[in-house]
Amino acid sequence: MFDVKILILATPRLLRLVESIAGRVSNIFGLPVEVGEWDPGVSGSGGMAEEALALVPRIPGAKVVGVVEEDVTVSGLNFVFGLAELGGSAAVVSVYRLRSASASVLRERLLKEVVHELGHTFGLRHCPNPSCVMSFSNSVLDVDRKGPGFCPRCRERLLRLMGK
Ligand SMILES: [Zn+2]
Ligand SMILES: [Zn+2]
Repeated sequence: MFDVKILILATPRLLRLVESIAGRVSNIFGLPVEVGEWDPGVSGSGGMAEEALALVPRIPGAKVVGVVEEDVTVSGLNFVFGLAELGGSAAVVSVYRLRSASASVLRERLLKEVVHELGHTFGLRHCPNPSCVMSFSNSVLDVDRKGPGFCPRCRERLLRLMGK
């Protein structure tokens, strides 16, 4: 996993937003981040997070996050901010419930959720520390409360999972 890179894909309308967080995602993981255009199609997922995740392209040597505009739910139950393959190669994040009147608030929330889902793709599970990016978020209040970085335990675990 030494040569892994991060690829964040988004629809044309979200590209600038995603580009604005790419540098910080790269710093947090210490890995190169590329941004690309991706359009899963209108309602391509039918609102299901699992289906949206299935539409994210799998690219060898990359952790790929697809950022979508539509709201996504898991198995028709509750909305989620995102979904990832634990220890896998793909994740999906929805901006639908992260939106705010403030562009900077949206940017911070998206950064945290992208880092969170990427953390899952590296094999990290949820963290009980509410300020850690790997803490589970039920609402945007939870998202706003946590930081974009890993707590010391998660960071240590991440580095081990990355083989560093
Ligand atoms: Zn999670
Ligand atoms: Zn943690």
